[in-house]
Amino acid sequence: MKNVLICGGAGYIGSHMVKLLAEAGYDVTTFDNLSTGHREAVKWGHWFEGDLLDTLSLEAVFRKTKFDAVIHFAARSLVGESMVRPSLYYQNNVVGTFNLLEKMVEHGVPSIVFSSTAAVYGEPQATPIHESHPTLPINPYGRTKAAVETMLRDYAAAYRLRSVSLRYFNAAGADPEGSIGESHQPETHLIPNVLRSLLETERVLQIFGDDYPTPDGTCVRDYIHVSDLCDAHLLALDYLDKNEGAYSFNLGNGQGFSILEVIRGAEEIVGKPIAYTLSPRRPGDPAVLVADSQRARSELRWRPRYTDIREIIETAWQWHRNPTY
Ligand code: UDP
Repeated sequence: MKNVLICGGAGYIGSHMVKLLAEAGYDVTTFDNLSTGHREAVKWGHWFEGDLLDTLSLEAVFRKTKFDAVIHFAARSLVGESMVRPSLYYQNNVVGTFNLLEKMVEHGVPSIVFSSTAAVYGEPQATPIHESHPTLPINPYGRTKAAVETMLRDYAAAYRLRSVSLRYFNAAGADPEGSIGESHQPETHLIPNVLRSLLETERVLQIFGDDYPTPDGTCVRDYIHVSDLCDAHLLALDYLDKNEGAYSFNLGNGQGFSILEVIRGAEEIVGKPIAYTLSPRRPGDPAVLVADSQRARSELRWRPRYTDIREIIETAWQWHRNPTY
């Protein structure tokens, strides 16, 4: 049985990954500092509370188990926050990952799957975005992720550390079995905010900007179901068994939806109108982000299962009406 360390396994995507790996028969250990994650979200495998900035706790987890691979989700991930608190991002995302990579090399752990982001591209010069698009991030969040991808290429060349960086577009939805889902404090993401505005009457949804150069003026994003993202990580682990080097793959559905289209989809599912206010643009938001994920399809043999935005919103809705944390 393969031993996999999941850094950030108590977070939104990490907790879904823990579940998938456990069900696929892996021996999973979660390492998480609970700064944004939830202990209740980790229902499978071994638990280890620790921080990537604390090299002693990292050393302890690497001593305890001989891991075959690491999947690394532990990071700060909000564009807006990264603009006002960049030090938090450089410290957690760059220094924390550096500590992790050092431990991997020291303990001979050969492979890592890394959570990267569409934010590494910055303002797209062409759409859909292919991996060959220049990486010119426009905010500290994107820059920290691009910096780690650079580190991973250098570690592959010098130390033969194998890596796959998965550049997520907009992660959304929840485990269809309903036991885990998305729970951020504060919540900044569109789909949870749309759904919570339906559940909590005092919460009014804000639309950040309706003057973008898009068909209805609101931002267009490529929403990808969290379970599909997790499938790609599993495939990436297999890929790294067979391939040396450092790779990057986009993960998206290849179809963009505007904020107003998401709202309409949610209204159809819930059967209630959604009230919203128009607010100014949120700094750092590109108008359109849509993925070309052909590389993941051909190299990893990845096939997203949730290709209909309504299905994605539906799984999120099932979670939000009955969240357990
Ligand atoms: N957005 C919005 N209202 C919200 C949350 C998000 O209008 O309450 C917009 C946001 O400005 C962006 C899109 O929805 O254009 C997707 O934002 P989200 O934070 O979900 O993901 P991001 O694209 O930043 O990763």
